[in-house]
Amino acid sequence: MIIAIDGPAGAGKGTLARALADRLGLRHLDTGGLYRATALQILRAGGDPADPEVAERAARSLDESLLDAPDLRRPEVGTAASVVAAIPGVRQALLDFQRDFARTPPGVVVDGRDIGTVVLPEAPVKLYVTASAAERARRRHEELLARGETSIYERVRAEIEARDARDAGRAVAPMRQADDAVEIDTTDLAPEQVLARALAVIDART
Ligand code: C5P
Repeated sequence: MIIAIDGPAGAGKGTLARALADRLGLRHLDTGGLYRATALQILRAGGDPADPEVAERAARSLDESLLDAPDLRRPEVGTAASVVAAIPGVRQALLDFQRDFARTPPGVVVDGRDIGTVVLPEAPVKLYVTASAAERARRRHEELLARGETSIYERVRAEIEARDARDAGRAVAPMRQADDAVEIDTTDLAPEQVLARALAVIDART
């Protein structure tokens, strides 16, 4: 069983992926974490995330303990992640890890930007989870405040829109809905409603 979930930042992919993995007894891979960890490794070493050689080297020698780093979710790490993610050598370096993970029984839920289109195009279930930019920014802003961080809504929204544009506009594996993916717009839905819709799609496809 392979469930591929793609969509922009803050749409609720991670929440849905964790809930599905929990409900169905599957493993979960948050592929954004791999790009974030690559970016964080470079930032901590004082390197430039836009330098293809530096970025590819970091992706090839990724320190997996960074996947649990407390600053992995910070907005500046997300921005640097989308810069490294546009570099073809970085995507290639992280591809094998993602495909190997997907082969582990009993099955997986994998979320990202190019899972249904590039990483696991054979996945029987593909979901494209989206929401308005205003709502996605509101959620991120609330999340940062809840963690005790300072946050300015307008800045969060500008960061999300810049990241969307970079992720959708890059030449290699741009963020887009696979032809056979079912879209779930979460703008006006609670997490349990999103889960119910996803389970209905899975029922119909398996
Ligand atoms: O999902 P998350 O916000 O953690 O992703 C961080 C960045 O990693 C995204 O903005 C995107 O540039 C990149 N990414 C990607 N392909 C994926 C997952 C994430 O390019 N499959």
